[in-house]
Amino acid sequence: MSLLKQFDQRSPAEVGEELYRFARELFPICRSITGDGIRRTLAMIGDRLPLKIHEVQSGTAVFDWTVPKEWNIRDAYIKAPDGKRVVDFKKSNLHVLNYSMPIHARMPLSDLKPHLFTIPKYPDWIPYRTSYYQENWGFCLTHNQMLALQDGDYEVCIDSTLADGHLTYGECYLPGRSDDEVLISCHACHPSLANDNLSGLTVATFLAQLLSGANLRYSYRFVFVPGTIGAITWLALNREAAARVRHGLVLTGIGDKGNFHYKKSRRGDAEIDRAMTHVLKNNTESPEILEFSPYGYDERQYCSPGFNLAVGCLMRSVWGSLPEYHTSADNLDFIHPAQLAESLRVCTAVSDVLERNRRYCNLSPYCEPQLGRRNLYRSVGGEPIGAEINARLWVLNLSDGEHSLLDIADRSAIPFAMISDAADLLFESGLLKTVQSEHTHETGRRPLPPAENRKSS
Ligand SMILES: [Zn+2]
Repeated sequence: MSLLKQFDQRSPAEVGEELYRFARELFPICRSITGDGIRRTLAMIGDRLPLKIHEVQSGTAVFDWTVPKEWNIRDAYIKAPDGKRVVDFKKSNLHVLNYSMPIHARMPLSDLKPHLFTIPKYPDWIPYRTSYYQENWGFCLTHNQMLALQDGDYEVCIDSTLADGHLTYGECYLPGRSDDEVLISCHACHPSLANDNLSGLTVATFLAQLLSGANLRYSYRFVFVPGTIGAITWLALNREAAARVRHGLVLTGIGDKGNFHYKKSRRGDAEIDRAMTHVLKNNTESPEILEFSPYGYDERQYCSPGFNLAVGCLMRSVWGSLPEYHTSADNLDFIHPAQLAESLRVCTAVSDVLERNRRYCNLSPYCEPQLGRRNLYRSVGGEPIGAEINARLWVLNLSDGEHSLLDIADRSAIPFAMISDAADLLFESGLLKTVQSEHTHETGRRPLPPAENRKSS
C-alpha cells in the first residue's frame, strides 16, 4: 500500500491531536544551539525513533565556523529596588537573551536599559533574541514591563554557564533498498516557540515513524540540528552522506493557519521541487511556490554552492511575514492540530512521489494495446471513459523511456497517485517495463542506444 493510502486510513483529527500533544510536551524546554535543552529535546524525540545522538566538541572547526562554547542556564531575573522579581526566567525562558553570559550585579536603570529588548509595536509580547557569536547578556521583556520600571538600582542575575562542552545533534537513518538518500532537516534550537520550530520537529518525528515501517526505495536521514551551526557541522562531518542526498527538505513553520509556501532548492528544477509543487497544487488550498533565495533556514547551508543539494524548504506562513515570528505570540495557541496533520500528510504525499516516481517503456507502442481484453477498459462502448482509464492512456502514451510518472502527472493534470496506480496496473499486465535502475533514477539522461543502432555522424 502506498504511504499516502496508509496515512489516510487514520483520522486526521487523531493524528493532529497526537502531533499537538508532542509539541506541547516539548514546548517548555529552554533550548539553544548547545546545552541540555537541545539534549532533552533530542532524548524525547529519541523515545519515539531510533535516534543517534552526536556530540561535537566546542572549538571544532567546521568549514569557516567553529563549534561554540556550550551554554546552559538555571535561572535569571531582574529584581526591582523593592526586591521583587520584575522579570523572571522561570515565567518564560524567552526573557533571557539566548546565550547570555553569566552576570550577577546591581546597577541603575540607565545601565540596565541597553541590555533590555522589547517590541514597542506589540507591547504585550516578549521578543526572542539571541547572541550566539558575540558574548553579551540581556533580557527580553514586554514593552509594558519595561515602561513600568522605575528609576533606582536593580539586581540583575543570569545564572548561566558558557564553557567548553559540546554541540549536540540527532540523526535517524532509515535504510532503504538504495543507498541514495532523502534528507529531512529541522532546527531544534529555539526555546519556547511553537511554530518555529516545534511544528517541524513534531512533523518530522511522525514522518520518520511512518516511514520506519515501510519497505523503502530510498534511505531516509532525518537530522535534528541547531540552526545554522548545526547544519554546517553536520555537512562538515558527513561529506559522504551529503553526497548521497538525492532529495531533501527543511521543515519549519508548518503548524500555523497560513497556506503552504515551498521555497525551491537552488537548482530550481530538482525532482523534490517538482514533487512538492505537484503535491501542494493537487492537495492544498492556494499554495505558493517561491524561488530560491540565499536567506532563510538551513537550506542556505545545504544549497551553498559547494554542496548545491536538491533541498527545498516547506513552510506555511513565511517566516518574518507575520508579527508573531520570534515572539512569545508564537506559542501553543498559534499552532493547530489540523494544520500539523495536514503538513504531515503533505510530507507523506511527497515521500510517496519520490518513492514511486519512475520512467517506464511502453512495450506495445505501435497503436494502443487492446486494453479491453485485459480488463483495463470500460466494458460498455459509448460511455465516457473514467479518470482511471484516462490515466492508463496517459501512462501508455508518454511511457517512452523519457517521461517520468511525475512528468506524466504534470502534463495530464492528473494527481500523481492515480498516474502511479495506473502504471502499477499496466506493469502487472505486462504492458510496461521499467527503464531505470534504483541508482540511476536521478540523472535524467537518456541511455545510449545499443552500438549497432547508433547513427554515425
Ligand atoms: Zn527562528
